[in-house]
Amino acid sequence: MSGLALKSGNPIRKNPFPTWPVFGAEERIALLEVFESGKWWYGERVDEFERKFAAFQDTRFGITCTSGTAGLRAALTALRVGAGDEVIVPPYSFIATASAVLEVNAIPVFADVDLETANIDPGAVEKKITSRTKAVIPVHFAGLPCDLDSLAKIAGTNKIKLLEDACHSWGSKWDGRGTGSIGECGVFSFQMSKNMTSGEGGIVLTNEPELADRIRSFTNCGRVANKPWYEHHSLGTNLRMTELQAALLLGQLSRLAGQTERRQENAAYLEDRLREVPGIRVPRKHAKVTRRAYHLFLFRYIEEEWDGVQKARFIEALTAEGIPCSPGYPYPLYRNPLFLKWGRGPEGCPLTCPYYGKEIDYAAVSCPAAERLCREAVWLPHELLLAEKKDMGDIVNAIVKIRNNVRELK
Ligand SMILES: *Cc1c(COP(=O)(O)O)cnc(C)c1O
Repeated sequence: MSGLALKSGNPIRKNPFPTWPVFGAEERIALLEVFESGKWWYGERVDEFERKFAAFQDTRFGITCTSGTAGLRAALTALRVGAGDEVIVPPYSFIATASAVLEVNAIPVFADVDLETANIDPGAVEKKITSRTKAVIPVHFAGLPCDLDSLAKIAGTNKIKLLEDACHSWGSKWDGRGTGSIGECGVFSFQMSKNMTSGEGGIVLTNEPELADRIRSFTNCGRVANKPWYEHHSLGTNLRMTELQAALLLGQLSRLAGQTERRQENAAYLEDRLREVPGIRVPRKHAKVTRRAYHLFLFRYIEEEWDGVQKARFIEALTAEGIPCSPGYPYPLYRNPLFLKWGRGPEGCPLTCPYYGKEIDYAAVSCPAAERLCREAVWLPHELLLAEKKDMGDIVNAIVKIRNNVRELK
């Protein structure tokens, strides 16, 4: 075997992996139809997509919107989470999970994740509940459903709302039920990198008719059904999806089940093989996860078991072998400048402080599992999992090759 590609050896892989987005005649024809109809705005395709996607996730109602971030804000507003309320969120996530909470003048409270799943730890959630807690937002990280039995039980016992951030989990099922259907609301994103996409876009799912009406009203300027167009009943905004986006999403949805199956098969193979590689850990799966999306293939790199070679160096070496990968989040959400300067400096308190009536110091927050995950996680993008089984062999071979030549990286 030649030396590492990083040290001018031959890379394991020269062929490119599949690229994202995947699209075809479905999108092309539907887009052209919308274009030529002259009706580009909220109409029958949005309606059809909302019905089909809600059904796909086993939920009664779907309300499309402009992004996952906007969907989280719409859901929080409809759930009447507001000024001074506390909302429990995981620190290992995209910023929107926490920033949407700030947008409704509420306070994000971070509960640590479980290192073995990268998902919020129900035990940690329970410890963070106070008399001011109004909701919890679990993220089904990388598509792996959180322990929804425990979370639903905690939410029920403590009378708080369960809002699923399902922005990684199109098609995932917990005990046979789609993610987003178990909490009061579930939010999905269709941004460009996501497993189904219209460039930007989002949807909120719910089983409760009154919530569906409130979410619809919020995303449509405070209007209500069957009332005059220029009559506004509540404070809303414009988060409407276009017909062009819905046309794209109907095409994307037609491929989702097949792509999910392929990603699952390839990921199962990778997990089995990588479990055997010293210094690599793959996430644990719960028996009640009956289907799952892979928005990412996440594994942990244990530096101490690689002769102290840093993760950044491993990622350089893996990339050089022809395997696209990334280190993921550099730090937990609460280490972002947004939180570190919260309540300090010329910007003072953004929105929330005056309502909270309490000091809050995010610099003092510590979630050791999330911090460790940021140090150890390696992400492979989901489109890699759309390749053939033999291509998965290249990923394993590249990691094993680096392992066998780790001294070259010192
Ligand atoms: C992408 C994402 C969002 C937000 O979605 P946008 O459509 O980009 O606004 C929210 N939460 C998580 C976990 C995400 O990955």
